[in-house]
Amino acid sequence: MNVFSHPEFDHHEHLSFVCDAETGLKGIIAIHNTSRGAALGGCRMFPYASDEEALRDVLRLSRGMTYKSALANLDLGGGKSVIIGDPRKHKTEALLEAMGRHLESLGGQYIAAEDSGTSVPDLKVMGRHTRHVAGVTTRTGFDGQPSTGDPSPVTAYGTFIGLKAAVKHKLGTDNLTGLKVAIQGIGNVGYRLARYLKEAGAELWVTDIHADNLQRAVDEFDATPVGSDDILSLPVDVVAPCAMGAVLNDQSIPAIRAAIVAGAANNLLDRPEHDAALKHRGILYAPDFAINAGGIIDVFYERTGGSPEQIRAHVDTIGDTLSEIFQRSDRTGLPTGEIANELAEERFRKHAARAGLAPRRLACAG
Ligand code: NAD
Repeated sequence: MNVFSHPEFDHHEHLSFVCDAETGLKGIIAIHNTSRGAALGGCRMFPYASDEEALRDVLRLSRGMTYKSALANLDLGGGKSVIIGDPRKHKTEALLEAMGRHLESLGGQYIAAEDSGTSVPDLKVMGRHTRHVAGVTTRTGFDGQPSTGDPSPVTAYGTFIGLKAAVKHKLGTDNLTGLKVAIQGIGNVGYRLARYLKEAGAELWVTDIHADNLQRAVDEFDATPVGSDDILSLPVDVVAPCAMGAVLNDQSIPAIRAAIVAGAANNLLDRPEHDAALKHRGILYAPDFAINAGGIIDVFYERTGGSPEQIRAHVDTIGDTLSEIFQRSDRTGLPTGEIANELAEERFRKHAARAGLAPRRLACAG
């Protein structure tokens, strides 16, 4: 297995391969860049088919966090960790505690948050052995409601703000009444996004592989249930992928009939060139790492002690960032994902210049 010459290595500062024979823990902690601050990113647990697959995932995700935080103007670096194993079968308190001890050994260079396969209670178990876990504090959330630390409510709000910016840019209106939106994946983020949209007067189509999640959206939002294969090609205004990545690909893009793609799922583009394919078809794509930054913004303020108003105001800037991306894309003819990467790098360098730092190299993530 190549590491330094791995195609996704991109000058990572640090990689730890962690193992604990007693608990069965096998994982990788990746720190891409700490120029802007400690590397913060989720700890994912997934039954990777091979070590190579786990390495590729952690490297891509970790680099993505550097870009996401820089684009959101947060003083955070980028990092991520993965635990190799099925969360439903292999996750034990002992394994999570062992992971916590490894996090502690990095001295705060990397801070773990929840991700797919891990939850707030899991992070709290890791936290028995380290302070370097985030998204675990019960407090008043950005909306004045009690928050457990789970970032999905803020991610959903940020996605709603970003979707509105896309509608404004492409359809020229602030009014969502009658807007037709198709949501793929009506889980933690998708469900809350659906609620914001419904309250704003939108009409919803939804799909999910879990029948109970789907039924809840049908019952509560009068949403129309749709089969998984059809959701991205419905004749709607917006498609909002909020399930898994790589759904914007050779098969789906030619079939999209919506004017806008704006959803929370990470790594939506199957390959970098799908960015241009969307632009070529005249579809406005809200880059995933710009629109789904609400969660990382929330976790940042958990650590620095920001007020609910401060958090909300910062999440609202997702709309401004997206508008800037859309306008620049129109001006230059470049696709929005490429512009988002450029803007993240500009913000990264600006921060370094202000702080009088020589930033470590940052290459365009595209
Ligand atoms: P979740 O697991 O709660 O929800 C995902 C939903 O998608 C589930 O209901 C699942 O059943 C459904 N789903 C899975 N595969 C599907 C398929 N093939 N077709 C239709 N539905 C399918 O996860 P979440 O926290 O809501 O996150 C959603 C996405 O947003 C993920 O890609 C995640 O990485 C990304 N994201 C989440 C956050 C956050 O704060 N939770 C932050 C940034 C990005």
